Formats: sequence, structure tokens, C-alpha cells
Amino acid sequence: MSNLAEAKEPNPEFTRKVVESGGKTVNLCFQCGTCTGSCPSGRQTAFRIRKVVRRAQLGFEEDVLPSDDLWLCTTCFTCYERCPRGVEIVDIVMALRNMAVKKGYMAEPHRKIAELVSKTGHLVTLREEDKALRAKLGLEPVPPTVLSDAKALEEVKKIAVLCGFDKLIIPGAK
Ligand code: SF4
Ligand code: SF4
Repeated sequence: MSNLAEAKEPNPEFTRKVVESGGKTVNLCFQCGTCTGSCPSGRQTAFRIRKVVRRAQLGFEEDVLPSDDLWLCTTCFTCYERCPRGVEIVDIVMALRNMAVKKGYMAEPHRKIAELVSKTGHLVTLREEDKALRAKLGLEPVPPTVLSDAKALEEVKKIAVLCGFDKLIIPGAK
């Protein structure tokens, strides 16, 4: 994102959508930068949460929704706890992500995890070595979740289809 973006005209209509989608405190931000200074993800990357909030506040939809930055937040809530203005930053990130996904933007690692949830009911798969370790610890090799309940898994899959989750995250899903 270039600094030229800051010279564009604000778009209050998009800001209103952010507020209505869950980012209701976005207009409280006064750009102090405490969030960016606290962000563990920003220490490792070029991600600057202050800029994301600013762009949402100004309604710069095209700068914020397709941006990879949106997916670099780990939702650790450090910034949320430290913001002196009480800006619910993670709620803003979530609102923006929801809007981004509806427009077809989603970081591939997030999409893959969402697909796993839809297909298996879990964020991570159960590997053979996990089963062996569970057995060694005296546990059932397969935990008593949807992994060992075919009917429950079918229900999870059905919910994913009925609520449109599949369509959002799996290419070609109906
Ligand atoms: S800490 Fe709060 S007020 Fe300061 S820049 Fe971040 S969101 Fe804005
Ligand atoms: S919640 Fe996200 S933006 Fe805030 S400090 Fe954690 S990683 Fe950074």
C-alpha cells in the first residue's frame, strides 16, 4: 500500500458498512500507534494494524479488503487491551475479513483451515502418529468428537452447506 492512498477522498459509505458489520468503534481511533507498537505479528512482518484501522476509518475499501495485511493478525488481543480509546480492534479485523471473504479475498492458509473445518469438523487432521500417541497414553485412538461419529460429521457438513460456508471457502462448491 502506498502513502498515496492517504490522499484519496474518504468513503463514509464503506466506513458505515464496517461499523454495521461489527467494527462499531472504528471511528474512535485517533492514530496514536499503540496498537502497532504492541503487535507481535508486526514485529515479524510489515503488518501495521494502525494503518488497517485508518483505512477502514476512511473507507478505503480497495486498499483494505484485498490486502494480505488483513490476514496477518493472529487475534491475540494485545492491541485491543492496550488501545487508549477502547477501539475494539479485533472486531474491526473480523468485520473486514468477513467483508473480504464475501468479495473473494482470503489468505490461502486461512482458506485451507476453513475447508478442513467444513470437511472434517476440526481445524487439524488426526494423523496416524497422533492415534498411536493417544493409544500409548491409554486414550481411545480416535477422540470422541465428530471424528468418531459419522452422523455428527454429516451434520457438520450439512450445516456448512446450508449456511453458505462451503460456497464462501471451497472453490466450485455449490
Ligand atoms: S491504539 Fe487505538 S487509538 Fe491508537 S492507533 Fe491503535 S486503534 Fe487507534
Ligand atoms: S490482535 Fe492482531 S493486530 Fe492486535 S496485537 Fe494481536 S496480532 Fe496484532
